[in-house]
This record gives sequence, C-alpha cells and structure tokens, in this order.
Amino acid sequence: MKDIKAILAERSVGSAITAKGWARTKRSTKGATFVELYDGSCFSGLQCVFDSGAASPGLEAALARVTTGAALAVSGVLVDSPAAGQPVELKASAVEVIGECPADSYPLQKKAHSLEFLREIAHLRPRTNTIGAAARMRDEMAYAVHTFFHDRGFRYVHTPLITASDCEGAGEMFQVTTLDLDAIAKRGEPVDYAKDFFGKKAFLSVSGQLNVETYAMALGKTYTFGPTFRAENSNTTRHLAEFWMIEPEFAFAELADDMELAEDFVKHLLGWALDRCGDDMAFFDKRVQPGLIGMLDGVRSKRFAHMTYTDAIAELERRKEPFEFKPYWGCDLQTEHERYLSETVVGGPVIVTDYPRELKAFYMRLNDDGKTVRAMDVLVPRIGEIIGGSEREYRYDVLVENMRAKGLRPEDYWWYLDLRRFGSAPHAGFGLGFERLLRYVTGIENIRDVIPFPRAVKQADF
Ligand code: ATP
Ligand code: MN
Repeated sequence: MKDIKAILAERSVGSAITAKGWARTKRSTKGATFVELYDGSCFSGLQCVFDSGAASPGLEAALARVTTGAALAVSGVLVDSPAAGQPVELKASAVEVIGECPADSYPLQKKAHSLEFLREIAHLRPRTNTIGAAARMRDEMAYAVHTFFHDRGFRYVHTPLITASDCEGAGEMFQVTTLDLDAIAKRGEPVDYAKDFFGKKAFLSVSGQLNVETYAMALGKTYTFGPTFRAENSNTTRHLAEFWMIEPEFAFAELADDMELAEDFVKHLLGWALDRCGDDMAFFDKRVQPGLIGMLDGVRSKRFAHMTYTDAIAELERRKEPFEFKPYWGCDLQTEHERYLSETVVGGPVIVTDYPRELKAFYMRLNDDGKTVRAMDVLVPRIGEIIGGSEREYRYDVLVENMRAKGLRPEDYWWYLDLRRFGSAPHAGFGLGFERLLRYVTGIENIRDVIPFPRAVKQADF
C-alpha cells in the first residue's frame, strides 16, 4: 500500500487505490461528501470525494461514522482534481472505519488549538499540523546532521549518558543512584556512595565532549549526537532539562577551522530544510513565522559576521540600549545581548570569539594575552546562542593550571590529561543544541514544541 506522500508524488491518475490514514476533516454538500485523509507521511492530506449519487446505504452508514480523527481505509480511483489546492483527488467508492473517534470526547477539534493547550495532550498533539510538521522537520534535520558529517569523513561516536566524573558544573547535573535514599535517611545514616551502583556518585551527562575528544585523538574527525541532561532551574523558551546535542570534535584544528565548520554546518541544515522540506516549510512560513523562508534563504547565501567578545561589549556599551542587564567587559552575555548583537548590530548570525577565561570552561585554549580563551559562540536572531565551541587547550601545563584556577582537581581528569601527554595536538569542536536549531528553522517560539515529550522544571508528564 502506498502512503499519501507517494500517491501525491506519483499522481497515477486512473489507477484504483486504497489509502489508509485518519480523517482530518469531513464536510458534506448536496452533491458529495469530502473527507481529507492524512497519514503523516507529508504535510498534505488526500482529498477523498464521495459522490452522493453513487452512495449505497452501506456507504452512507460508514460515512456517518467518519469523524475528525477516525482511522480509515478509503478505496477508489485517483482522478485529476477540479478544485484548486490539490492536483489529484480520490474519487472514493468505499470507506472502512478502522477505528472510530468519538467527536464528543476527542480533544482535538477542527479549530486551531493553542500550543499551550496542546502541551497538555502531548500524546495527541503530533496529529496537529504544527506539531506534525515539527516532528517531520526533526527527523529531516537529524538525517541532515549525519549526512553533513558523513560526507566530510567525520565518524559518529556514541558517548556515554552516565558519567561518574562530577565535573563541568556539577550543580546542574542530575544524579543517578540505585541507593534507597529514603530508607537511609530514615535510619539516620550518612549516604555511602561506595555502596552505590557504580561505587561512587554518578550523574547524567551534560555533554559528550570530554569523551569524544578521546576519539578525536584517535579517529581524527568525530562527532556525537545524543541526549544531554541539565538540571537547569530556568523556565525559558530556550532551555530543556533533556535536550539533544550535536558535538563535533576534530584533530589538528584551530579556532578558525571550528568557526568555518560551524558556519558550513548551519548552512547545510538550513539548505536541507529549504530544498527538501518544501511543504512543511511553506506551512511554517505561512502560519508560524511569516517571512521565515526568505530570512533563512538570506542567511544561507551570506558569510556569518565575526566579532570578538571585547568588540561586542564595546558595541553594546556604545549603543546605550536600555538593557535589563547592563553590559560590561567580563559579564556573561545575556540572551538580550546575544539577540541584540545578531538582530540589530549585525542583522543575521554572528560568531563571537575570545571570551574572558573566567566565563568559559577549563578546557578552552588560553590566548597569549592570558585573559581570553579561544571560544566561539554562534548567535542567531530570535534565539541567541545556538552553538558554543572552542579550540581546546592542548598544552598539558596550561590545562592543569586552568583546572586549578577553576577549583578542579587534575587527578579527577587523569584520562583527559593523558590526551595531552601522549601525542597531544591542537583540536577543536562545538556543541549545537538540536532543539534550538529546530526553533530557528521552523520559527516555532517555544523549545517545548520542537521535542516530542519535553522535560523541564516540574514537567515530566507522558
Ligand atoms: P545558554 O547560556 O544559552 O544556556 P550554555 O552556554 O549553557 O547555553 P553550552 O554548554 O555551550 O550552553 O551548550 C552548547 C549548546 O547546547 C548551546 O549553544 C545550546 O544550543 C544548547 N543548550 C545548552 N543548554 C541547553 C538547554 N538547557 N536546553 C536546550 N539546549 C541547550
Ligand atoms: Mn555556551
């Protein structure tokens, strides 16, 4: 059996077909009943037209049971459509109701529902136009990620999700334990993590980077793409507790190579969406963010702007905008600053480099000024930071000193330091938040609407 995407693409007018899917709408006129059948294979549905003249009592009874959301098998002949809006339609002669969908209790009606409401019925929301299109885009973008790296010789490395090195901002990590903490507390005993599953405290990983670096030092060009966990107590439209991240890491690379890879990567993903996801993108352009396609097309054909952190701060100070948080050299760029830089100062994506070392992680390469590190963040309009990356510190002594300066114990990172003892080489990488990319590409405002089952503060339903 062909899916609707294939039926609409092949347009084999005159052939007898059966299509299975769900009724999106049903409407009747004097002469005919129209059922729009969709199966999720593409944005469009198949228009099924039941002529009243040809109807038998059996067909009448079946049609009466067709309501929005019902699962159906519709048979008939494919014909050229006289109506605008679709090139072909199904001249239907029979319908089998496979699964009824009672109209009085089905939460999804024909009318448009708010995205907030849809989050409360996350198990049904992929049936809607917006969430269905977002789900197809998510799949397309994941595929595009792999094609991009595969075509460039990058190897996909699976890094662990559970980690026992309580490094990298331990405060934001979720703990993993099999100990019965309630029982231990009741007995008034101290927790002995030597008795825990891993023999020590363990966490869900906030990044695969440290692990993938080891493979970059062996396979040369690598990347990870998987779930990442952060116990961020921030209720924003850009943070999730569980999100997916793409992290390339490659050897013999410096900051400039990293920036070039990031730009090529983003452009590849945008290009893929524009060139291959026409139906869904047309919907986002029309209904979600007017002008989206033109904007993304413009991004694809222009070089990303570059700016040092120092210049960015100077620019922000010069503009005298009434920012909520006043910028100064040494401050972490807030979302409002990031957006201002890309939206107003540049008018497109901008790569900000060379941040103060105090703001960034211990593994970033120190510049000769001793004050800044070779970091780069890609900032885009509407969202702010979409990518964070850097050239890595590959000099053993400097790395150890960086760790100490940040209060980390080098012995906890003995294996990571080994990479700097045995055949160390400059290398670089970055992390792209997959859901932030999806917000950018689809125009969808809230990050919770581009992932099937969002996990955020006080939200883990479904
Ligand atoms: P931000 O300052 O915007 O919260 P970050 O600097 O903490 O982000 P990084 O540690 O640099 O983020 O992570 C790399 C990328 O992962 C970010 O550029 C962003 O795209 C994405 N990301 C980070 N935190 C989250 C989150 N909580 N939810 C979704 N995506 C995230
Ligand atoms: Mn960052």
